[in-house]
Amino acid sequence: MEGIRAGGFQVENPYNGRVSRVPADPGRVAAIVFWSKNYHAFLEGGYAAELLERGYRLFFHFTVNSPHKVLEPGLPDLDERLHQVRKLTELVPPEAVNWRFDPVCWFRNGRGEVQNNLADFVTIAECMARAGVSTCTTSFLDIYPKVRRRAQLEARLEFMGVEQEKRIRVLGRMNQVLKSLGIRLQVCCEKELWEALGLQEGIRPGACVSHERLEAIYGPLALSHRRDRGQRSAAGCGCHESRDVGSYRRQPCGHGCLYCYGNPVRAEGRCGKGGGP
Ligand code: SF4
Repeated sequence: MEGIRAGGFQVENPYNGRVSRVPADPGRVAAIVFWSKNYHAFLEGGYAAELLERGYRLFFHFTVNSPHKVLEPGLPDLDERLHQVRKLTELVPPEAVNWRFDPVCWFRNGRGEVQNNLADFVTIAECMARAGVSTCTTSFLDIYPKVRRRAQLEARLEFMGVEQEKRIRVLGRMNQVLKSLGIRLQVCCEKELWEALGLQEGIRPGACVSHERLEAIYGPLALSHRRDRGQRSAAGCGCHESRDVGSYRRQPCGHGCLYCYGNPVRAEGRCGKGGGP
């Protein structure tokens, strides 16, 4: 909000430290796309209302997974997060809110039991449908060595890889639930999996920043419709060009997710699918 009020953002390149300015004038910003697992401060601070009053078009990715005190210890409870979803869909068109159930993961706990984080998927899907949310994006956990080590050290938990056949079965079951509720399923950076699926059941590769979707919601905008080459196109990322103005260093996240690989409080590196906000 300081950047908005100052008319621009000082953005540091995470790789070489160079700082550049990104203008924030509403006339030069087609839309602002947010990612979060918790919009409490944003909503309570009245920032959404302020941005709308200033003339910005907004789009929200809202990651809501099954609550789990070891995987996502710092988040508010599920009811509070679903309440935030409803508040957002009252502020912007519901199509401007995308639900992420991400990442889907399997793990062995300290007692040797194998579990996953899908327990509340149906409940969350029903609430999303009631709020008018019409898309869900998912992916499966990428088990980076540092994430594997941290899980063992901090929680005596072992993340488990899952074979493709099982992933396809799980996607199929998620898609069945979502279709019955009028929600479209998209996969994020899962090129191999999507190719194996073919066009089965209408599951599509997603794009977190989709110029087509923004224009479908807000009408024609001055957008390039070019792919963002800074993202993981080879892995299936379909994002269009955008400028990232956030910084895990300057605005660290305190949610403490066990599988986070984007936040320097928990890990070095840059946020990608599944591990980011
Ligand atoms: S940035 Fe990391 S710790 Fe923060 S909410 Fe996202 S995954 Fe969790």
